[in-house]
Amino acid sequence: MDDTNRSKPPPTSSASHSTSTSAAKAQRLLIVDDKAFARSVIRRALDKMGYTQVDEAGGGLAAIEAVKSAGPAYDVVICDIIMPDVDGIQLLREFADLERPPQIILASGSDSSVLAATEELAKTRGLKVLGVLKKPVSKDALDSALSGFEAAEPAATKRSGSMRQLTKGELADGLESDAVTVFYQPKVELKSGAVTSVEALVRWRERDGSILPPAAFISVAEDTGLIRPLTEKVVAIALDQCSAWNKDGLDLKVSVNMSAQDLNDVTFPDEISETIDELGVPVEHVIVEVTETGLFQDLATSLDVMTRLHLKGIKLSIDDFGTGYSSMGQLQRIPFSELKVDRAFVTNAGNRPKALAILKASVDLAQRLGIGTTAEGIETADDWALLEDLGIDVGQGFYIAKPMPAEDVPGWVESWQVAR
Ligand code: C2E
Ligand code: CA
Ligand code: CA
Repeated sequence: MDDTNRSKPPPTSSASHSTSTSAAKAQRLLIVDDKAFARSVIRRALDKMGYTQVDEAGGGLAAIEAVKSAGPAYDVVICDIIMPDVDGIQLLREFADLERPPQIILASGSDSSVLAATEELAKTRGLKVLGVLKKPVSKDALDSALSGFEAAEPAATKRSGSMRQLTKGELADGLESDAVTVFYQPKVELKSGAVTSVEALVRWRERDGSILPPAAFISVAEDTGLIRPLTEKVVAIALDQCSAWNKDGLDLKVSVNMSAQDLNDVTFPDEISETIDELGVPVEHVIVEVTETGLFQDLATSLDVMTRLHLKGIKLSIDDFGTGYSSMGQLQRIPFSELKVDRAFVTNAGNRPKALAILKASVDLAQRLGIGTTAEGIETADDWALLEDLGIDVGQGFYIAKPMPAEDVPGWVESWQVAR
């Protein structure tokens, strides 16, 4: 994963096109459509573009058969959505589970909301969607979609499923040594541009110095009973850092992420409170982010833990809002002070009417409840402008800054202030 920070934001990577640097041509392609005519239209277009290794499947089942049968994996699958046997949505699920998933071009006669929803779903499953085409498919549209093909799976869409996972042993050893490290991603007030806080995001430093993202080890830690020590480590590192910055006159709040399991342990609020006292961090500087999905394992205990965190003066933020269950109910029960809209409804929302509707509704809800709003996943100036217009308080995203090591933060803050 690329955690290097750019001073200039990356260009928009809108729905179907990526900022590919590895210009490559797809070699093996599969056309999936139950209509022979539709397949032949696509095949002729591919022929003209010089694609020679093109297979066809006349339905979902045949497509599954084709991708699972021996031989090199397909680079690209051009896929109809509505088919009589196995539909495109089921098919995408099968593709996502493959060792080396193909990149996807969706082609359908369905209305654009079905196409958009299917595209969303494909991306949620970690598939790279090169394009969404209305039938009949034109050569130009196909050509433009295929130009987005990347030879290697891009880091941004890498799924935890295909990423090396740390073993329990490695985790346990690393927790004893200094493998756990924390990167910080700034959050800024959208109106003024002022830097308000940073989110602590855990990283794992391998012996060779390479850095692994949370997807490589959080679920392992959760499954092996090691999440609590991991969380404690992150909290200790982040609060220590916060205290050091404060001493240097850099007044930053710090958000830390909690796992669902942390909320199932009633000793957690006391533990974090002790760390705060020991390190001399003002309690108003600490924000705990919890994901909605996390709140459900044991509702009574989670409520107990969160209410006590709140009583101790620690701010609670509801993370990934809109992706979990029963968000509304949680908002009523739990004393949240910040609602963080998931980036699925933020990035490029201006061009995605449904995402925008959810974004607006979430902001409206938060404002009525008197809760501050943060949007994550701001990737372009357009995203920023839209969110500011909607009255969202705080923003976070690659357009502002990528997560960075602690030592880069003061310099970044300075150059950010100068640039604004
Ligand atoms: P999250 O809490 O939603 O954190 C935001 C994630 O979105 C981060 O990924 C960040 O790098 C990424 N991100 C930020 N801005 C943008 C943007 O503009 N575009 C895109 N596409 N992505 C952006 P990261 O660091 O890989 O973290 C992934 C998840 O791992 C976090 O999601 C959080 O749920 C979890 N996590 C991170 N640190 C910890 C931790 O210390 N403890 C626990 N339990 N979970 C953690
Ligand atoms: Ca978070
Ligand atoms: Ca989030």
